[in-house]
Amino acid sequence: MTKRPCPMCKKPRSEQFTPFCSARCRDLDLASWFDESYAVPGPPALPEDQSRDN
Ligand SMILES: [Zn+2]
Repeated sequence: MTKRPCPMCKKPRSEQFTPFCSARCRDLDLASWFDESYAVPGPPALPEDQSRDN
């Protein structure tokens, strides 16, 4: 098996936090995932207001 580095900081990964090197990098990755799903909520919250203003 090839040893892959931590995807966050490219340091050698830790077995405990694989595939990351530390809890910090793991949390960073989780946070970025959370951020992305947060940033894709779908349609705007108030579409009706805009069409009504037409
Ligand atoms: Zn790392």
